[in-house]
Amino acid sequence: MSKKFYLTTPIYYVNARPHIGHAYTTIACDTIARRQRMLGADTFFLTGTDEHGQKIERAAEAAGKTPQEFADEVSAQFRTLWNRMGITYDDFIRTTEDRHKKRVHELFRQIRDNGHIYKGTYTGQYCVFDELYVDAVGPGAPCPECGRPTETVKEENYFFKLSAFADRLMQLYTEQPDFIRPETRRNEVMSFVRGGLRDLSISRSTFSWGIPVPDDPKHVIYVWLDALANYITAIGYGSSHKGAQEAFQKYWPADLHMIGKEIVRFHCVYWPAFLMAAELPLPKSIVAHGWLLFEESKMSKSRGNIVRAETILDVLGADALRYFLLREVVFGQDGSFSFDALVQRYNADLANGLGNLASRTLTMITRYFRGEVPYPSATVSQKAGDSAIAETARKVIAEYSSLVDQYQFSRALEVAWSLVAAVDKYIVENEPWALAENQSEESRSRLATILYTSAEALRIVTALVHPVIPDATAKIWAQLGLGDIRRFPLPDLKWGQLQLSTKLGNVEPVFPRADKTAIERMQKMEDQLRSGTTVTQAEPETQSPAAPVATHAAVAPAAKPAVVVPDGKITIDDFAKVELRVGQVKVAEKVKGADKLLRLEVDLGTEVRQVVAGIAESYAPELLVGRKVVIVANLAPRKLRGLESNGMIVAASPEGGKAVLASFLEDVPVGTRLK
Ligand SMILES: [Zn+2]
Repeated sequence: MSKKFYLTTPIYYVNARPHIGHAYTTIACDTIARRQRMLGADTFFLTGTDEHGQKIERAAEAAGKTPQEFADEVSAQFRTLWNRMGITYDDFIRTTEDRHKKRVHELFRQIRDNGHIYKGTYTGQYCVFDELYVDAVGPGAPCPECGRPTETVKEENYFFKLSAFADRLMQLYTEQPDFIRPETRRNEVMSFVRGGLRDLSISRSTFSWGIPVPDDPKHVIYVWLDALANYITAIGYGSSHKGAQEAFQKYWPADLHMIGKEIVRFHCVYWPAFLMAAELPLPKSIVAHGWLLFEESKMSKSRGNIVRAETILDVLGADALRYFLLREVVFGQDGSFSFDALVQRYNADLANGLGNLASRTLTMITRYFRGEVPYPSATVSQKAGDSAIAETARKVIAEYSSLVDQYQFSRALEVAWSLVAAVDKYIVENEPWALAENQSEESRSRLATILYTSAEALRIVTALVHPVIPDATAKIWAQLGLGDIRRFPLPDLKWGQLQLSTKLGNVEPVFPRADKTAIERMQKMEDQLRSGTTVTQAEPETQSPAAPVATHAAVAPAAKPAVVVPDGKITIDDFAKVELRVGQVKVAEKVKGADKLLRLEVDLGTEVRQVVAGIAESYAPELLVGRKVVIVANLAPRKLRGLESNGMIVAASPEGGKAVLASFLEDVPVGTRLK
């Protein structure tokens, strides 16, 4: 029985486009998810969007859209960006989806039936920016969290008996010191709870963009109760669907909720209290990271210094952004972003560091040993330097693993790169190119040892850092002749596994050096985006003070990507962006007024999707029910004849002939991913 690991990003509020701050959280989670998979854990990685609340209602109105249209647009931007970055999420939940709404009802009912909800009147101040009831006095009093003027609300509301949970919460923080990390956040939370907890209003009746309270639809459920519930609704809590129930049993409680430090209170006080009230197990750990600053100051719309991930993806690629953020920022603390620092790190650590080590080692093996890994000689040619590298590698494996498992990414990468530096020095000192000029047996043997040692160290670094820089390491792994790196079992990693005569693949550089124009190009793209924002409509502020964002503007033309792929080919990571899953048709019917379309409800194991497919001329609807099909699960939703289609069914479409659905000869469980 393999271990499971369930981790989540916060769900991102759809009042603003994604930017580098959102990317940072998501990259950290993706790195952890990839590592857990390589460790053999049955991993479930959830992300998504938070789409309700007064702030969205107002933002949509300002943009002349319905809240749903507004949410659809921004949610799709997040999903598109994650797909483009190759983020390996297993599910993307939206709080406006039916599955979520139904299951939030279940949660609300459960808490109410357990006696923790009552009706009362709330009079006081509300901060719309933070979607937070605050202890401030008088109309317009500043919000203690963000300093913005608060609004006075007087409403008959549903209240959650938060005050009754103070002791149990304190007990949780004391008995499980790892529940909140880092320590500074834990101390903040404990002092907040020690200061006394008041009951929490968990409904609003002055606006309607939310999930109605069960049996009292003039109230909508407080947006934070709605949003936090995503962590359980996405994996099947409250569902009557058997597959969903099993998923919930299997994955809950979460092993890790990764969050930004500005939402600690909601996650570490309210969320465990809601779960206690519903008598559900608590998540094992909540980890808060710091804010990403731009050149030492907060990114903000007024400063016009927001950076988007797309700019960096276009110029340097996803690996550069991933490596930079995890290496440069001490996880848990605030960190600083600048284009100069990014390019400097990229060149120093990736192009001249790992990239150069890979290319020189593999090129020499190709040139001197016809592309086959030579075997180190055990006798004549062993020197102290050789075993020192092996010793360093052993230490690096242990230290890196321990650091990365405590989410100390920066220190872990520093340790991994100490091996890169050691091997670089080893190569320079041993001058293999000079040895290659001498055909004596001793020289050949010595050369073999040096190149084996270098290649083996390269293999070890590559395996360790694959979760951080997946694209480049997959390429280096293939160049080492080792196949698919994602299948490599990390717990087995040790010195000496590289086999004699392993045939190398084609050796190509993975990190071309970035020249000065890289900074100029990125800067120019951001400037264009920013100048576009000042003249267009003002977009609402975002939820996180660290994460304000600019608006829709013309996207600058994409520069040449850093990784060159032959014309017409895609990389394995491009393919991995397409999420193909096995689904089972539950309902199939003709679409009125459309001869070619069928409306299908397809079970994906954790949810049932509506898909509209152009296969009515090939298949009678009744013949499809029960049939297993292949679905593109992460296709952005689209409307066909007024029906929303969430995904696409894969079929062969012969020229002039009828569509033929892709299917399986052997039985395969619903929800299985095709890869
Ligand atoms: Zn506020």
